[in-house]
Amino acid sequence: MSSARLTQGDVLRMSSLFVRTLREDPAEAEVASHKLLVRAGYIRRAAPGIYSWLPLGLRVLAKIEAIVREEMVAIGGQEVHFPALLPREPYEATGRWEEYGAGLFRLKDRKDADYLLAPTHEEMFALLVKDLYSSYKDLPVTLFQIQTKYRDEARPRAGLIRGREFIMKDSYSFDVKDEGLDVSYQKHREAYEKIFTRLGLEYVIVSAMSGAMGGSRSEEFLSPSPIGEDTFVRSAGGYAANVEAVVTPVPAAVPYDDAPAAHVEDTPDTPTIATLVDVANAKFPRPDRAWTAADTLKNVVLALVQPDGTRELVVVGLPGDREVDLKRIEAALTPAEPEAATEEDFKKFPQLVKGYIGPQALGPQGEQVEGEDGEKVPAIRYLLDPRVVPGTRWITGANEPGKHVFDLVAGRDFTADGTVEAAEVRAGDLAPDGSGPLELARGIEMGHIFQLGRKYAEALGLVVLDENGKQAVVTMGSYGVGVTRALAALAEANHDERGLAWPAHVAPVHVHLVAAGTDAAIFEAAEKIAEELAARGVEVLYDDRAGKTSPGVKFKDAELLGAPLVVTVGKSLADGVVEVRPRAGEAEHFPVDGIVDAVAERVEALLA
Ligand code: ATP
Ligand code: MG
Repeated sequence: MSSARLTQGDVLRMSSLFVRTLREDPAEAEVASHKLLVRAGYIRRAAPGIYSWLPLGLRVLAKIEAIVREEMVAIGGQEVHFPALLPREPYEATGRWEEYGAGLFRLKDRKDADYLLAPTHEEMFALLVKDLYSSYKDLPVTLFQIQTKYRDEARPRAGLIRGREFIMKDSYSFDVKDEGLDVSYQKHREAYEKIFTRLGLEYVIVSAMSGAMGGSRSEEFLSPSPIGEDTFVRSAGGYAANVEAVVTPVPAAVPYDDAPAAHVEDTPDTPTIATLVDVANAKFPRPDRAWTAADTLKNVVLALVQPDGTRELVVVGLPGDREVDLKRIEAALTPAEPEAATEEDFKKFPQLVKGYIGPQALGPQGEQVEGEDGEKVPAIRYLLDPRVVPGTRWITGANEPGKHVFDLVAGRDFTADGTVEAAEVRAGDLAPDGSGPLELARGIEMGHIFQLGRKYAEALGLVVLDENGKQAVVTMGSYGVGVTRALAALAEANHDERGLAWPAHVAPVHVHLVAAGTDAAIFEAAEKIAEELAARGVEVLYDDRAGKTSPGVKFKDAELLGAPLVVTVGKSLADGVVEVRPRAGEAEHFPVDGIVDAVAERVEALLA
């Protein structure tokens, strides 16, 4: 796929170009970029999340790849190319054969040996450097590839945006010292800023969780878009983070010396927090103010599924005015994946009384707690939202139907096995760095830079001799750009109801030239303009279709395909005039005599 190369200054002809434009949206397409890329004949779906590339699509892809490649080379990256089909062993050594879970395409060869289709290539790059290098003098080195990746995504979505086969630029830096990794990371960060600027994609850099890879510094480049799957936050003071990475500012502990003793009260028919708050205010009013949902401690039962399929129940306690955010929990507890507990799960733990679960029936881990009829049952792991600091007073379940306990004080009446960032982040929450309230927005993750550290090098034995002749484990960075995703994000950000509208740098051609009419003179003039533009290095798609293709159809196609300039040779040629129209702008008229100069100048200006 990455062998796609740009051919400069050629003329494509609609009469022979391998493309069929469609008037109807494909049934399965939800987002504009997906609909338009299929309708305009850039891609075709082969299977869910898997696409074939047609000539126009390949041309855009080649231009995006070229920009990415140039900026990687500019920071000293050297291009290599790995297979997509890989043996199991390296991934076994780092634990990812298992950890990747259902997202990994695994297969067997005829000898029954395990293989995989690589979802990312940390292992292979580390092993390559290990093979060839042995001294600190060989480092630092940065290697990259532009290559096809495979992930069996749970929900392939939005066409190229979340594919199961997709192209990624992945690069890896190798350094001996931590400071070296900082430098490599910073270079990538700057290269990515240039890449996305040149592509014409708006981006926000957000701090990210390290996810399944475990490591230190990690940032994502998100392109703000309502169809994005990532939610990020930002403050007016400059803080920006993926929602998964937001760390809750922990409130100070509250003194509880004069807090009343906990007391269990009858609260029948209070299955929801709203009903509980109503009953509390009606029957057990507080002197100082009304009870609110934020005074209740909600205990949510989840099942944590490990990559090997083992299932552990865990209860997460959080203020009742907040929802649980599974993505945040997943980021905190990865590679385990949280899901809602089932009836089966509940049956195994009779101490869990649905709707009335309280901390007294939970944790600490490994201990026994009092079950239903006083008998001892194993404790369930209990994790608390960071807001539940010692001294906070709660209304929460009393582990009996229809009963809640009041004035249950954290640190006095209950403890937990740890904290977890479980609660949703809300607009107006304060940024952890004190830079003010947060606002939420959605974005598409375009790139990810990540200080991997020594984890993979350790697992794979990537060591070199340092200046003192001692063995030193190499420290790695891992950096990705979603190339096919960038193409879709560009289409998403550059279209209107009539079709695509590419920025000139990535457009499949610079000029869409339409011969509108039937006169031989029109075709002759258009042909000449096409050839002369091509000779000037301008890429032209010439709609030379004769016969029954009406000018109206040609114009519609031009708007759907989305070249930045549409040049029309039509009736006005008789008066020596040719029309030039930017894809999303007003038409201008030029004398046919200087038309090639005029168009070439406009193209140059667009590419400047
Ligand atoms: P996501 O959170 O969107 O699943 P990721 O964090 O798993 O992505 P990385 O492993 O960081 O992705 O991969 C590097 C880049 O590859 C991402 O920033 C994204 O641009 C791109 N990418 C990842 N998964 C896909 C996919 N399924 N389809 C297209 N591009 C993808
Ligand atoms: Mg990522």
